[in-house]
Amino acid sequence: MSEDCIFCKIAAGEIPSNKVYEDGEVYAFHDIHPAAPVHFMIVPKEHIASLAHAHARHEALLGRILLLAPILAKGQGLGGGFRTIINTGRGGGQEVMHLHVHILGGGAPRPM
Ligand code: AMP
Ligand code: ZN
Repeated sequence: MSEDCIFCKIAAGEIPSNKVYEDGEVYAFHDIHPAAPVHFMIVPKEHIASLAHAHARHEALLGRILLLAPILAKGQGLGGGFRTIINTGRGGGQEVMHLHVHILGGGAPRPM
């Protein structure tokens, strides 16, 4: 846990969130400023600053997060599909420096 990290505090239950899912390693919650009709994030409970800060020992954890994405998305009504975004570093538009996977859906996604 990083003392001044807002997502560490959310994952620890110290800051309220609209929770989607939780287990021993992972926490998922709705984005406070949704960019789509459904917009939540999946984060590891371990503080990993970004995808660029992940190591080989995080391989299974990252795999778990990706495998959870369609399961949690379906639970949020996104059985027809969803967009997955991981912003990495300032150059990638990352604002909160705790690795998170955005899951968005429920609207008409702009082509990429
Ligand atoms: P990123 O730009 O990829 O770092 O995304 C950070 C996301 O966190 C943004 O979409 C914010 O709206 C969201 N966010 C920031 N603070 C909170 C919070 N307290 N609860 C839920 N979402 C948050
Ligand atoms: Zn953190």
